[in-house]
Amino acid sequence: MSRIVGIDLGTTNSLVAYVDDKTGLPRVIPDRDGQVLLPSIVSFTREGVLVGAAAKRQLVRRPQSTVYSVKRLMGRGYDDVKDELGYLPFTVLPAEGIVKIQIEGRDVTPPEVSAIVLKSLKERAEAHFGEPIEKAVVTVPAYFNDGQRQATKDAGRIAGLDVVRIVNEPTAASLAYGLQRIREGLIAVYDLGGGTFDISILRVKDGIFEVLATNGNTHLGGDDFDRAIVLALLEDIRAKHRVDLGRDLEAMQELRLAAEAAKVRLSAEERTALTIPFDDFTYHREITRAELEALIGRLVESTIAPCRMALADAGLAPADIDEVVLVGGSTRVPLVRRRVQELFGKMPHSQLNPDEVVALGAAVQAQILAGGITDMLLLDVTPLSLGIETLGGIVSVLIPRNTTIPTSAREMFTTSVDGQHVVDMHVVQGERELAKDCRSLARFELSGIDPMPAGMPKIEVVFLIDANGILNVTATELRSQKAAAIEVKPTYGLSEADVERMVEDSFTYAEADVEARLLIETRNEADTVITHVERALAQGRRLIGDDEHASIVAALTALKDARGSTDRDRIREATTAMNRASEHLAELMMDAALKGALASRRADEIMEK
Ligand code: AMP
Repeated sequence: MSRIVGIDLGTTNSLVAYVDDKTGLPRVIPDRDGQVLLPSIVSFTREGVLVGAAAKRQLVRRPQSTVYSVKRLMGRGYDDVKDELGYLPFTVLPAEGIVKIQIEGRDVTPPEVSAIVLKSLKERAEAHFGEPIEKAVVTVPAYFNDGQRQATKDAGRIAGLDVVRIVNEPTAASLAYGLQRIREGLIAVYDLGGGTFDISILRVKDGIFEVLATNGNTHLGGDDFDRAIVLALLEDIRAKHRVDLGRDLEAMQELRLAAEAAKVRLSAEERTALTIPFDDFTYHREITRAELEALIGRLVESTIAPCRMALADAGLAPADIDEVVLVGGSTRVPLVRRRVQELFGKMPHSQLNPDEVVALGAAVQAQILAGGITDMLLLDVTPLSLGIETLGGIVSVLIPRNTTIPTSAREMFTTSVDGQHVVDMHVVQGERELAKDCRSLARFELSGIDPMPAGMPKIEVVFLIDANGILNVTATELRSQKAAAIEVKPTYGLSEADVERMVEDSFTYAEADVEARLLIETRNEADTVITHVERALAQGRRLIGDDEHASIVAALTALKDARGSTDRDRIREATTAMNRASEHLAELMMDAALKGALASRRADEIMEK
């Protein structure tokens, strides 16, 4: 029996888990440094590709070549992501139905970027088990359409992982909580992560899960909380320092990171301070939990309507729900917990780490598939209706949304013109009446139909959704016997050739071996220190004497020299020496910033009186 791991490929963070043979319990796998969450961030540097925390450190330095939140782009077309582009510092271009990201003069697709994240998790698992890992269960938001699921599978293939099952995240979360042990009950899974919000209503009966309804918003999460804070900070900076940092990419990334860190602290504390040194000034302010709640209140509130819609779809009232499960890092925000508890009138499950619960559930699913757990079954639903465009652009639905999968449906169609021997088939997904308002999944031609009067041909269209939620469409003209059948790949997927090329490319990335990567990281750290020291010298020259200034400049020159070499130890030593030489200046500057902030607050208070 080959081992299958469970992977949560998240918008913000990704992680890998497995079921421990001894205890039968799912466990997450940490990296060498004990970190469980791998930031879903990839940075393309001239020397090689960085992933995770190393890439996250590049957000400020190389915003244009550091890709984050790529899950928002997976399997999507340019029109789908237009609204997103203003917030992404890297360049996104349209490309044959999908989007491509342009980095350092070359193009990469979202599945290639995700593959780099998956590969890192695969290597982490391999290091843990000391054996090759080739199979995984990967989770996706319940709202992912066919193209997005396909793109996720492609990412697995590029990374050298056979994605044996795609599972909806909320389904995985209920498995992690072992809710199959309830004899019968209704579960609401509220999942607010970094970039997506999902609400799912599940029924569990005799160990079998059934998804009754799903709803949500693929563009709502902790990233939006951060953005709301950043906007408030920008306004504050404009008022206090008379500068607009809105167009300064580096400054915006600094603000984003500081805003997120403050938000996280405010989940545990009532108030917190923000201090951000910029080139010309240091920004400082305090923010309270109440202020945060005022900023994000509307965003949190906007999760409630989808909850009510999902309940209505399932024919239920909030009070019918027996269990509420919280998933996603953003459910640590106290306001979120409060609102969910108010809506359902009961305490949500939050015993498991909300960042890990989906990966843990994926591991349970993996164990079921590997044959290690035999008393559980999983049923999922298709999140959106699937149909064919017919005369006049009207959609004929073959599979309505919330149908339990795997499933199949067939319907008969015919021609509208005499002697017609070609029929255009247009497969769409969505809830709207007209095809133009739905998502176009695929177009294909059924040709070779014998000439017949209009209405005579019998064209049978079959939709088949497999257990992963992936759709196959076939069309056959029955009357002419010479049946033509066509299998449809979603428009948003990648071609076989694309995937093969990407697999090859991914080996090229792998050539940046461990030593090279460590060198890059060491150099990057040196660069960060150099930038900070140069900034400190420019801003804080008057705070120090000539001798101290001279020794800092000497250390700086030595570090710049060392940085150019390939000797990692030498760079590291020079960095440490630089830190030591500039420590005192950094302290003086921090003091000055705090004093300045206090003084301006006192001035504010005086003015208020
Ligand atoms: P996920 O996509 O589930 O990994 O969730 C990541 C999101 O959760 C990010 O927006 C994080 O900033 C947010 N997050 C993580 N921990 C906390 C916390 N303690 N308080 C508030 N938000 C958090």
